[in-house]
This record gives sequence, structure tokens and C-alpha cells, in this order.
Amino acid sequence: MILDGKSLRDQIFADLKPQIQDLKLSLAVIQIGSLEASNVFIKQKAKMCEQLNITFKHYQLDENVSEREVINLIKKLNQDETTGILLQMPIPKHYNLSLLQNIIAKEKDIDGLSIANLGHLFSINNALKPGTAKGIVEMLKSYDIPLAGRHAVIVGRSSLVGKPLAHLLLNEDATVTICHSKTINLADITKQADILILAAGKKHLITAEMVKSSATLIDVGINKEDGKLYGDVDFNAVKDQVKAISPVPGGVGPMTIAMLAQNLYEAYLLQNKTS
Ligand code: NDP
Repeated sequence: MILDGKSLRDQIFADLKPQIQDLKLSLAVIQIGSLEASNVFIKQKAKMCEQLNITFKHYQLDENVSEREVINLIKKLNQDETTGILLQMPIPKHYNLSLLQNIIAKEKDIDGLSIANLGHLFSINNALKPGTAKGIVEMLKSYDIPLAGRHAVIVGRSSLVGKPLAHLLLNEDATVTICHSKTINLADITKQADILILAAGKKHLITAEMVKSSATLIDVGINKEDGKLYGDVDFNAVKDQVKAISPVPGGVGPMTIAMLAQNLYEAYLLQNKTS
């Protein structure tokens, strides 16, 4: 079975559209520099906004802009009518990423990457959750892939994907193992996975010998080579050897965008809470 992120995204958009149509939601994307990969992701966000009638504001800053100017922009957006603020990653290394991420007001931090939201992930339910991790759980649930008691193996331990995902899967009663670049005998562990999630960013890291036939594979990896996109799984070699697999492109990517839209709505609700 191929796990189709595009049709799930379309369904999520269709459900969301009537709920948000009168809310005048707006998304501000701050880009520092002009990386081609970032331009592609920003275009996808602009398209999402167009489809859902959300106001899209793109702040493209020169990569030599002072940190103070970025901070002032974020502070202005924290105060004005903007619903969600997003710092497009990656940003040039000479900026203090953590500082900038944590200036974004927590109820406007729709990437869910501020310390406040990551902290709330462990304690309360209404934190804004990182979109990719949230989208993966949503995808598994939409396809009725059982999670409780199952062994979920995540390859990749970033704060963006692997770590928040481990927590969300634990909340679904999965038994979770996280692997990384120092893991010894990766294949011994991946072969045990009922659900295997790949977020390493290494083209074709996972081959047919590394998975069991009853496994569900979620491929987060985006690896560009000669203008083509590849996942972390050797898709053609593996797809007929497992129960279910998400493709690249067309799997986790659209789910991340769908969760971004959902987070914008949740951000609106948090900002307009009456009690
Ligand atoms: P990072 O580079 O921050 O993290 C990669 C992780 O993979 C690290 O924990 C690293 O280990 C681990 N890793 C690298 N090589 C190996 C290996 N050979 N064996 C085992 N583990 C390994 O990446 P991100 O988490 O930001 O992103 C991961 C991938 O997912 C990228 O390709 C990215 O483009 C893609 N992505 C896709 C999204 C989507 O919407 N589809 C959204 C976000 C990311 P260590 O910690 O030891 O270095």
C-alpha cells in the first residue's frame, strides 16, 4: 500500500476551509538569504495560503541583515494581527537560531519549535506541535496503522523531526526506538520495526534487506540529486517487500503543509481563547 500524503492533505484542506473562511488568518514567513531549496518550500506555503484564503506575507531579508533587525521584525509581528510566524530554515550560521526561534510568541509559533512549545509538548495538550512529526502520526492514523504496543523505530534524532515524533508516538502507546549516526548495526534494529520512520537525509539508506515484510515505512528524507528528489528509502526496491510505504515526493511533504495549515487555525484559537 502506498500512503498518499497528497490526497490526505487535500482532505484536510477541504475540512479546514469552511472552519477558517471568516477568520482572516495570516501567515508571515521570514526568510534570511535566498537559498533555492527554501524558495521551493516557501512557494508551497504561499500556495497553501492561496488555496485556503489565508493572507501570505513573505519577508525576504538580505543575509547580511543585522540580528537586531530580525528581532525587531519578529517583535512587530508578535504584536500585530499576524496569526502565525515562521522562520524559514535553514538560516545562515552567523545568526543565533535559538534566540530568534524563542522570540516568536508561543501562540504564533506555528512550527512549534520554541522552547515554550517543545516544553509544553511534554506537559499539556494545547501546545503547537512541530508539523512534520504531527503529520506523520496523522498519516498513520488516517490509514488505520495500529500504533499501540507496536515497535516504532525512528532513524534521526533532530529537534525538528525525530525527537518530537518519538514523544507523539509514545503518546499513542507505541514502543519507540530512536537511531542516529552513531547507532551500531542499524539493520538489526530496523528489521525489528513494525513502523519504521526515516529522517536521516541520506539517499537510499534503507534497502530491502533492512526491513521486515509486515512493516510500515514512513520516509521523511528529501535528498536532491540531478534535479530529482529521493527519500531515505530505496523506494523501488522496497515498495513490494513491505506492508505500506510513503513515497518521496508525495508522502510526508504534503502532510507537513497540511499540519501547518491546521497549526495556523490552532494558533488563532489560542490567541482568541476567552477564558
Ligand atoms: P538533521 O540533519 O537535523 O538530522 C538528521 C538525523 O539523521 C541526525 O540525528 C543524524 O544523526 C541521523 N543520521 C544521519 N545519517 C545517518 C545514518 N547513516 N544512519 C543513522 N542515522 C543517521 O535533519 P532533519 O531532521 O532536519 O531532516 C531529516 C531529513 O528529513 C532531511 O532529508 C530533510 O530534508 C527531511 N525533512 C523533510 C520534511 C518534509 O516535510 N518532508 C520536513 C523536515 C525534514 P546524528 O544526530 O548522530 O548526527
